[in-house]
Amino acid sequence: MRVLVVEDEKKVAAAVRRGLEAEGFTVDVALTGTDGKWLATENEYDVIVLDIMLPGINGFKLCAQLRELGIWTPILMLTAKDGDLDEAEALDTGADDFLRKPFSYVVLVARIRALLRRSSSAETSLTYEVGDLVLHPARHRCSRGDQEIKLTAREFAVLEFLMRRPGEVIAKLDILDNVWDFAFDGNPNIVEVYIGYLRRKIDDPFERKSIETVRGAGYRLVPDRG
Ligand code: CA
Repeated sequence: MRVLVVEDEKKVAAAVRRGLEAEGFTVDVALTGTDGKWLATENEYDVIVLDIMLPGINGFKLCAQLRELGIWTPILMLTAKDGDLDEAEALDTGADDFLRKPFSYVVLVARIRALLRRSSSAETSLTYEVGDLVLHPARHRCSRGDQEIKLTAREFAVLEFLMRRPGEVIAKLDILDNVWDFAFDGNPNIVEVYIGYLRRKIDDPFERKSIETVRGAGYRLVPDRG
């Protein structure tokens, strides 16, 4: 389990690191909001512990920015004592829980474990359904009706992106930005190629047309029950 701690008070950060490492967590520490954002977007964490008053980007802003980037790692926000307003605001910006300073490590570890339990049960039960097409990201499974469909990791990612917004027109560049590395500088027509692969797996064998091409705009996934 990997935890990112964003906290500018070096003593607190070091103590939190020791406490969490003693519990078996792998811990990265960022001392500024800017470093925290960089680490959170470069690596995958299971939990982020986020202080509010930080140099660079403050905790509220950082939390909101990560959510905007589509990073849904559970966030435990550290608030000042008597911070009722802080707490309301923390939850408002997309934090999952908050903990008042000063806190004990026993409570910190308990809160982190609770967040981990919550997120893993939410993740494993998450499925997308469009018509009789079903996608189960945690198990990496795709099916149409009672037929299992084998997809590569990239095909799966493209389909998952479309299934998150069924019925909406999704631009090719949107798919490219989200499914391929943001530094991808190859031919954007790679998206068309993958849409072709997907059609051959999820549509053609079932005589369906669930991935529509919207000329000049992108693609739309629609329920097609045949
Ligand atoms: Ca601080």
